[in-house]
Order: sequence, then structure tokens, then C-alpha cells
Amino acid sequence: MEAATARARLEEMLADLEESARVLQHGDGDTGELTTVDQHPADSGTNLADADREEASLEILQAQQERVREALARVDAGTYGQCVDCGAALPDERLDARPDAARCVNCQQRAEAGGR
Ligand SMILES: [Zn+2]
Repeated sequence: MEAATARARLEEMLADLEESARVLQHGDGDTGELTTVDQHPADSGTNLADADREEASLEILQAQQERVREALARVDAGTYGQCVDCGAALPDERLDARPDAARCVNCQQRAEAGGR
């Protein structure tokens, strides 16, 4: 994959993730902030559960952003599209499916299995 194509795709992903994180934190528009100010004690149980869920999703979004930023750093370094573990070239179809992929399928499986 061309570095310029990869960069454009990754920057788009990052913008989407940042937008999702923003909506999650602040609500989509003005109404989100009003509801937090207006909350009644009786509602706090529900609101806490919602906050927990939002935090979990936010962590996922931030982890994804981090992966995309690392991929962008690899574009800058000229190592994008190479497995960070074994250096093998990642096939285009893998990068199409996962532009932020850092490892070839074999190394990814090994990393997820926890073995090194
Ligand atoms: Zn590898």
C-alpha cells in the first residue's frame, strides 16, 4: 500500500475515533451537558452504570487511537506495512481490513496467546 494512502486512511480513522470519544464524553450536542447538571439523586444508580459503560467504551476508543497513532508513526518511519515483530511485509488485504495492523497474522496470534 502507498504510504500516502495509508496515512490518509489512518488519519481518517483517528478523526473518527476522536469524534466518537468526544460524543461519548460530552454528548452529541448541547443536551448531553444539561442532563448531567439536572440529575436527581434517585437517578444516580442508572447514571453511574451509564458512566461505567461510557468509561469502558472510552478506554477501547483510546486504545484504538493509540494503535492508529503508532501506525502513523510507522508511516513516518517508513516501516508501515511491516510486522513489528518479524519484519515480514503485511499483505495488502490485511492492511485493507486493518490499516492499524502492527503484526502479521502469525505474530498477532502469538501476541494474543501471550507467548513470546
Ligand atoms: Zn510477524
